[in-house]
Amino acid sequence: MLAGKTALITGSTSGIGLAIAEELAAQGAAIVLNSFDERPEYERMAAELGDRHGVAAGFVRADMANADECRRLVELAAERMGSVDILVNNAGIQHVAPVETFPTERWDAIIAINLNSAFHTTAAALPPMRSAGWGRIVNIASAHGLRASAHKSAYVAAKHGVVGFSKVVALETAGSGITCNAVCPGFVLTALVEKQIDDLMAEKGLDRDTVIRDLMLVKQPSRQFATVQQIAGTVSYLCSPAADQVTGTTISVDGGWTAQ
Ligand code: NAD
Repeated sequence: MLAGKTALITGSTSGIGLAIAEELAAQGAAIVLNSFDERPEYERMAAELGDRHGVAAGFVRADMANADECRRLVELAAERMGSVDILVNNAGIQHVAPVETFPTERWDAIIAINLNSAFHTTAAALPPMRSAGWGRIVNIASAHGLRASAHKSAYVAAKHGVVGFSKVVALETAGSGITCNAVCPGFVLTALVEKQIDDLMAEKGLDRDTVIRDLMLVKQPSRQFATVQQIAGTVSYLCSPAADQVTGTTISVDGGWTAQ
């Protein structure tokens, strides 16, 4: 389905981003993985992913907290693969604290990585997508792009921002062959959530199962985590011809969280 296209996925050496890379490669897209750090295993990870699916794949280091590096990432990915046809803004971090004690440095980092990076990469990716007459921008937002939870001020602000930004990009690109949408996962068991489980166990003195059942999945009526493969499948759908007219919207994969 995606043969001849290249997908750049930010923050894609683990979790949801890596699953998206795997799924888009399975659909035939060439892949550019990204992380803020540089480790020999990342090039190996990309090479193995490419081999598994018979596509070109590489790794480009860039810190999504840095505006220039965000824009440069898109240029380097296009230089390496020939184009960036699919941009998935996935890099994200979390910090949990009440507003009064929320560290300014964590607020700034979350807004930069979870929100501003999508602006910079999108701005860099759009001109060549317009020339090509085709493009897919998928922003990994969150149920927290549509609902709030206490102690997640920066994350909720950033993810609401991503949802709004996605709508504006959709309007500015409507009819050009480019679409822009936001995927809104509920809880998915990745490193980002494992850290919250550990922190809550320590803070509340509860065991893992109780934290998961009573503090996390209580938000999700299905009482089940979404999986990284389910998020990846949703991104794949948004890159498919069936989604040519799907733009400026959100797709929730949250076990019913935002139906409440
Ligand atoms: P994760 O921690 O496994 O993945 C986050 C990725 O972002 C990591 O690979 C990390 O290296 C990368 N990253 C962090 N800072 C970066 C930076 N400065 N530059 C480049 N890359 C950076 O967690 P995940 O759950 O896979 O998160 C992926 C996305 O999904 C995030 O945007 C997150 O907010 C969103 N999300 C996750 C959940 C969940 O429950 N896990 C729910 C909703 C939304």
